[in-house]
Amino acid sequence: MARVEKFAFHVPSLEELTGVLLNGLKENFADVQVSIVDCPDLTQEPFMFPVKGICGKPRIADVGGVPYLVPLPQKDKVYDLNTMAKEMELPGAFILGAGAVSSRIVGVNAEVAQSENKPAVNGSYIAQINPEDGGCLLEKYRNKHTDCECGLLANLYASKGLPGKVIEVKANRRTGEHNFVTCIKKSIEKHYGDKPVGMGGTFVIQKGKAKIHIMPPEFSMCPLNTDEDVNNWLKYFEMKAPLICQPVLVYRDPGFDLRLEHTHCFSHHGEGGHYHTDTTPDSVQYLGYFVPAEFLFRIDRPKETHLVGRD
Ligand SMILES: [Zn+2]
Repeated sequence: MARVEKFAFHVPSLEELTGVLLNGLKENFADVQVSIVDCPDLTQEPFMFPVKGICGKPRIADVGGVPYLVPLPQKDKVYDLNTMAKEMELPGAFILGAGAVSSRIVGVNAEVAQSENKPAVNGSYIAQINPEDGGCLLEKYRNKHTDCECGLLANLYASKGLPGKVIEVKANRRTGEHNFVTCIKKSIEKHYGDKPVGMGGTFVIQKGKAKIHIMPPEFSMCPLNTDEDVNNWLKYFEMKAPLICQPVLVYRDPGFDLRLEHTHCFSHHGEGGHYHTDTTPDSVQYLGYFVPAEFLFRIDRPKETHLVGRD
């Protein structure tokens, strides 16, 4: 097993968090509603998850890290979702999140949007560059693979996958410059100061388009030393709604060299990848369900680190 560090987040009540998110998001969206609701049945469209909810022992893991990808990839960095569920002290957890695929299994580099539970159902999607036309190729991971692996880095939200109370966020027409997840993080920052708060869940970009990247199939031959190098290496796309997104966010890093936000998305129309922001602020509509996490698990933290490629 990899080295695991554990940290207890500050866990605000849903009532308090509702007010905090409403106040913060109002500064960045023209039309915002935040309320406490029963988690909708996530086995239904558009989610089609293998479990009904995102409640029950909510926790976050930050696995590996960008330092395993750049400047040069460490292809031996492979993680198993079932093992990680145990490392998160929740065997058989339902896991949502964003990660890179294991190059050992797939042989290429790509983005994973994950969902998995007991008995190990890997509902992950894999987004890669289509070798035929250079566009996006989104596939269900289990159509081609039987393992539950990912590689290099992952940001995961785990729960028992149960129904329960969640925070529903509706945010339409973006007026600020930050993306939806950053806005949520900034709302938390404004209220909780230096208390670390973590959240996960799922949101749908219901209308509009979004800037999404996919990693190229080949790792870079030359070292990627700066954010600009990484940007030039990644392939960017504008993808259309509806996009189902798996956000993991933390405000603020209690000293574990964390990635503070990471969101991957999939769709039912063949598009998916790593979410940066929407490209249609005037028409965008977000609908999300969130739960504050109780614990952070830092798994296999890189010993040598840097701040390149954290967007
Ligand atoms: Zn990503």
